[in-house]
Amino acid sequence: MNLDPGVLCFQHCQSKVFCFNLPETCPVCSQDLEKEPLQLPPFRLPYPFVRASQSPCSLVIKPTRGDFLHDYRNNNDLHIGVTNSECIVYEYDHEGLHTDYTSSWSQCLAVPIIHDHRGELDPVWREYWDFTLHTTAQQEHWTEERYDEHNFNCYSFILEYLKALRPPKLNVLDLTKTAVCSQLIVPYTSTAAKYISLYRKIVKQKIVIVEK
Ligand SMILES: [Zn+2]
Repeated sequence: MNLDPGVLCFQHCQSKVFCFNLPETCPVCSQDLEKEPLQLPPFRLPYPFVRASQSPCSLVIKPTRGDFLHDYRNNNDLHIGVTNSECIVYEYDHEGLHTDYTSSWSQCLAVPIIHDHRGELDPVWREYWDFTLHTTAQQEHWTEERYDEHNFNCYSFILEYLKALRPPKLNVLDLTKTAVCSQLIVPYTSTAAKYISLYRKIVKQKIVIVEK
């Protein structure tokens, strides 16, 4: 199942129009779009979410409850996990550390950490990623008893993992939850937030006109 709602963008006269289905007439000037040339032909906006099962060696993020398009409110509601090279999600929550819910990560943001600028994975790093993930996950403290929503949670696992991994281009010495959020996560959630807000407006009003 494809979860992309297919947001379309086009422009006939002075404003860009966003919608799910192309209207017959321009919502700005009411001219017949069948006969009128468009300044900007319709294109589909890039869908910002991916399936974890297609995102190897990445941090993966999704709302703690529900999904991004319908339930996301702000960065405080996010749950974070990490995929191995075979796209299995490792996550720490009130059930302890587990790897059996990968299929529930069908609409998430994936943050590549060791991919190069072309999105490729170096084989040596990929192997080290899995090895370090396995070793970190083997630690005995990732239990459901020790889990604490505020002080010992999914971020604690990610922080310990990244500190053990020491990936290039990331200073892990003083790495905190705040630094992980601002450096790695916010660039992705802010793009996603724009898409989500547009999506919700189109659901409500069918057509969104954005003035220049
Ligand atoms: Zn028009």
